[in-house]
Amino acid sequence: MNKETIRGNVLLKFVFQLLILCLCLLVPNQIAVAVTSLEVNTTKQFGDKVKIAWNEVTDAVSYKLYISVGDNKKYKFVSEIASAIDDTLNEDMTQLTEQTEPSKLQHFYNGLSAKKTYYFKLQAIDANGNVLDTDTTNLFNGNIVSTTKQKYSYSDMKKDIKQLCNKYSDYVHVNIIGTTVDQRNIYDVVLGNPEAEKCVVFQASIHAREYMTSQLVMEQMEYYLDNYNKKYDGKTYKDIFDKVCVHVVAMSNPDGVTISQKGFSGIRSKELRKKLKKMRGASNTTVWKANAKGVDLNRQFDYKFKYVKKWKKGSYALYGGKKPVSENETKALVQLVNDLNPKAVVNYHAMGNVIYCRYGGKKKVQKKVYKLAGEIRSLTGYSYMGLDQSPGFANWLVCKKGIPSCTVEIGMHKTPVPISQWSNVWKQNKNVMAATAKLYN
Ligand SMILES: [Zn+2]
Repeated sequence: MNKETIRGNVLLKFVFQLLILCLCLLVPNQIAVAVTSLEVNTTKQFGDKVKIAWNEVTDAVSYKLYISVGDNKKYKFVSEIASAIDDTLNEDMTQLTEQTEPSKLQHFYNGLSAKKTYYFKLQAIDANGNVLDTDTTNLFNGNIVSTTKQKYSYSDMKKDIKQLCNKYSDYVHVNIIGTTVDQRNIYDVVLGNPEAEKCVVFQASIHAREYMTSQLVMEQMEYYLDNYNKKYDGKTYKDIFDKVCVHVVAMSNPDGVTISQKGFSGIRSKELRKKLKKMRGASNTTVWKANAKGVDLNRQFDYKFKYVKKWKKGSYALYGGKKPVSENETKALVQLVNDLNPKAVVNYHAMGNVIYCRYGGKKKVQKKVYKLAGEIRSLTGYSYMGLDQSPGFANWLVCKKGIPSCTVEIGMHKTPVPISQWSNVWKQNKNVMAATAKLYN
């Protein structure tokens, strides 16, 4: 090695070290938590107050807030809020390096009137007064979930989920866990702290005509959110759902619900409609239980599964398909359970005012099922049913997965359950979701 090469190597090493040093110095700035997108959201507080929160935007020195009441979107300037990013940088560096979430700013606005829709517009402003980013959100400050409508539809639910998320964005989140053959989403609405170590799952309308169960779980969520800081059985709803969040699959079978409510004309796909017309029970779609392929989703889990060849074209009920978990809806539920490993799963069905909880699982699991079922029985007054060994979701959960689960049947005499029974159903079930989450707190 000649002298020049050595000198070259030393120089290279020096440049390299300098580069590393520069990078190290840059790190705190890189972790500076400002981002480029505002993503404004709102969470209603007690009384007429609302919390407006958003991400700090890089280079913004202030934020201008505008509000419009009603749908005309005539925004009025409300206030200008200074950026807080410099303060954040002065904080302890170790804290900064651990921070991965964008820095949030918030502002409280008082003066929400009942039953009105509010639009919030926020602008990020730089030192020269330029608008860097704009974002809007809206909040309906009234009762969201209808409990007077007989046919609570997929689109009603979709709209309500959005409104609940907008009104209570700190406490409700939504995931899409699947899409049906007729292109409807299967939603998983997360109530409470989505990062909670423990969770329970509530599932409704796996059977199409039992759609009042969707209305019920949606109304349960809205009720808890409206009363989030009030106490239930010694604990606030907030504390309960902070510790154990609830994943609510409010409509497991949206295609089927659409068939039961609107007939085959509610199905978008011409091809599906053609096949549906040839199925067993096609002349009375009101009592449809299956999905848009004529598969009874609660007969198609991987437990004591049986293929019934004579109904291979599909049926309004009881046909479990050619093989277990062949349908998008059941795949979504199985995947959700495998991902979450929930403490318990409650299935809402209709009707009979009864609870199925005897599945013949292992003693240890069965004991946990009785604990869950006992809690629900004490609230609803519903009675227990005998042994059930079908290829249902709860059966698979208890017997194959070892997860406590039970099936709660709401309403009396007929399905679809008439809306005139709502007040009874509500009285019996109002706190079932909260009590279930509290059981595992
Ligand atoms: Zn059912």
